[in-house]
Amino acid sequence: MTSAILTRDTLVLNKAWIAIATTPVRHALSLIFTGTAEAIEPDSFQTHAFETWVELEVPDGEPFVSTVNMQIRAPEVIVLRSYSGVPQQVLPFTRRNLVRRDGSTCQYCGRQPGHAELSIDHVIPRSRGGPTSWENCVLACVQCNRRKGSKLVADAGMRLVRRPAAPQWSPIFEVAGTHQRDAWRRFISDKHWKHSG
Ligand SMILES: [Zn+2]
Repeated sequence: MTSAILTRDTLVLNKAWIAIATTPVRHALSLIFTGTAEAIEPDSFQTHAFETWVELEVPDGEPFVSTVNMQIRAPEVIVLRSYSGVPQQVLPFTRRNLVRRDGSTCQYCGRQPGHAELSIDHVIPRSRGGPTSWENCVLACVQCNRRKGSKLVADAGMRLVRRPAAPQWSPIFEVAGTHQRDAWRRFISDKHWKHSG
């Protein structure tokens, strides 16, 4: 139970209270503990340093983290104390982020067949030493993936819709539909909710 909560997402706001990322509760708590960030109570917008956050009672039904001698509320939202920009760091390579970068679209035929029909294709096949990276991986539908097989793009008579590259954190942070949280709604305007089908 506790470990599942530690990997839950916390919304991260920059100093200007603009949502810029999500991070696991485990990391959010360490940011609060080190004073890099403060926790926010979503209902009251009250901010808390670690010392006062750990003194809060955990409301019934709210997720919490248990330590040896106390229960700490799992923060839903945190705000960074000093960072006001948008971090220009590369997103970790995950299937979820790849789906987001490629807009759930096959990068060979441009169709959107639905998530179950999309696979990760290595542009330079793994059998030829192609790495699993932002620059070498794209979403491909089942048909295109089969057609390409372990060939190079040109050899398969195919063409990429666009050249794959590592995405930057978007200044307009989007939260995929499946990861929406009620407590976050007050911090992200409606147009930034990404409704994925
Ligand atoms: Zn395709």
